[in-house]
Amino acid sequence: MQVSKSWRELPQRYRLEGKKCTQCGKTCFPPRDICPVCNSDHMIIVNLPKRGKIVTYTVIHTAPANFEIFKPYIIALVQLEDGTHLTTQLTDCKPDNITLGMDVEAIIRKINEDGKDGIIYYSYKFRPVLKNADKKKS
Ligand SMILES: [Zn+2]
Repeated sequence: MQVSKSWRELPQRYRLEGKKCTQCGKTCFPPRDICPVCNSDHMIIVNLPKRGKIVTYTVIHTAPANFEIFKPYIIALVQLEDGTHLTTQLTDCKPDNITLGMDVEAIIRKINEDGKDGIIYYSYKFRPVLKNADKKKS
């Protein structure tokens, strides 16, 4: 059951698919069948922009068992270029290097590996846009 659920979610995980309301223009992620603003069910699938800015973030020091190897990790609220907000894990950066408003981009990363079945789960994460990282190289 977990496997089929993962497969069903693959398009949104791989391509950052959201849904857009054709009535009021609201875009949401994860995709919803009913518009949270106007309750319309005229929702179409859209590919969301892969870039955005950090609105706010928090550092997680106590992780669930499956995420132990990632801790401490950073969860950020990102505003995409089209205005859509989503919550995501930040990667390729340390908490000290993060600033509000920092440009970030979406990448696909392994999030979890199921040891028993050998299933590897992938999802999107965001990382600082590379031009920011280049400045820190010496
Ligand atoms: Zn709407």
